[in-house]
Amino acid sequence: MNLDLNPRQQAVREQARRIADERLRPHAHDVDFRERYPEEGLQALIDSGYCGLTVPREYGGMQADSTSACLIVEELARGCPSTAALLLTWAGGVMSIAGFGTPQQKRKYLPGVARGELKLSFALTEDHCGSDAAAICSTAVRDGEGWRLNGKKAWIGNLGRADLTVVSLKTDPDAGSKGVSSFVIEKGAPGFRTGEIYSKLGARGTVHGELILDDVRVPDEALLGEVGRGFAQMMHSLDFVRLLTAAHAIGIAQAAFEAAVEHAKTRTSFGQALHRHQTIAFMGADMAVDLHAARLVTLQAAAQLDAGHPLGTQAAMAKLYATEMATRVTHKALQIFGAWGAKKGSIVEQMYREARVTEIWDGTSEIQRLVISRGIFGR
Ligand SMILES: Cc1cc2nc3c(=O)[nH]c(=O)nc-3n(C[C@H](O)[C@H](O)[C@H](O)COP(=O)(O)OP(=O)(O)OC[C@H]3O[C@@H](n4cnc5c(N)ncnc54)[C@H](O)[C@@H]3O)c2cc1C
Repeated sequence: MNLDLNPRQQAVREQARRIADERLRPHAHDVDFRERYPEEGLQALIDSGYCGLTVPREYGGMQADSTSACLIVEELARGCPSTAALLLTWAGGVMSIAGFGTPQQKRKYLPGVARGELKLSFALTEDHCGSDAAAICSTAVRDGEGWRLNGKKAWIGNLGRADLTVVSLKTDPDAGSKGVSSFVIEKGAPGFRTGEIYSKLGARGTVHGELILDDVRVPDEALLGEVGRGFAQMMHSLDFVRLLTAAHAIGIAQAAFEAAVEHAKTRTSFGQALHRHQTIAFMGADMAVDLHAARLVTLQAAAQLDAGHPLGTQAAMAKLYATEMATRVTHKALQIFGAWGAKKGSIVEQMYREARVTEIWDGTSEIQRLVISRGIFGR
């Protein structure tokens, strides 16, 4: 499908596709099936420089433009959704440090992130709240020259693997969203530990679970940006992460689509190839249109960001459309496979599950609709 990419963007895409085909896809099923960390994928990210995808060039990163970042994430997700999900988890942390960190914090952390030596995690959600992020209860309280942190986070990605975690905490419990501040916490800080690790539907190679803050003491230098600005900072980072999440969902759908097309060409029923039945051929047509539309919405939003314009509701539109599209497309792909699509080890079985979680993380579909409708009705 012609997307009007310039030669450099086409080269970026082709390189990512090659890496995904050669180094990610061969392990994607095993990563998912055994719910194991995508070590091979991580090494491929390090070797290709993708760990520094969003790290500014002055700190040794790629500083990819948003369009290239989306193309790379899409291709990697097509190869191995769990590996690509690592980049989504890191992107939130990188955006926070690069966007709001002090010069010292940037110099201390970003070169290591770009080299793949420092892995990141982004901790916002708690047991009792995900969508209503301002309702978090975990706290950071002034303690002499530093801070004392307490609470519990839930659904935190890259758990136990991250060297740095950007954590959102309440510094003023009575101030709602204006009482949230962000901290960057290094692995090994006393009292900073993992709790339950979840077994889950998709992105099974990325470890998710509880992060416990048990009287963790950090110096003032751990504060990221200004006190009370953590919520606004997080929303800013999330806009970009939502674009990458949209690209991730497109990659998942593309993998299922390609498998379904191949199956429809090679499997026969009633004496002819499946795609000769109009119902199946039309499913292919609907999938292709849906995928193309999702790419256009996502890459148009990325281009808007690259042109220096604020994203507004477009990140929400891309996230909403692409992730729901992925559920529709993987559903049809599984249908085209019949029983073989329901068998463990089938790529469409995996992508069907992978697609579903994309509608939840980084803001559910309902929250994206909330953002978009506020833009329409000015509330
Ligand atoms: C695989 C996976 C990875 C994740 N990774 C991370 C991570 O790395 N870091 C992190 O901090 N979090 C992470 N999360 C958490 C994720 O961001 C939250 O699950 C998500 O924001 C939804 O929150 P919730 O699960 O608490 O649902 P709730 O907020 O309890 O919502 C429940 C339902 O109600 C709907 N709803 C809620 N409020 C409204 C409203 N105002 N209007 C309409 N409908 C509403 C929701 O859309 C949803 O359908 C991850 C989640 C998953 C599944």
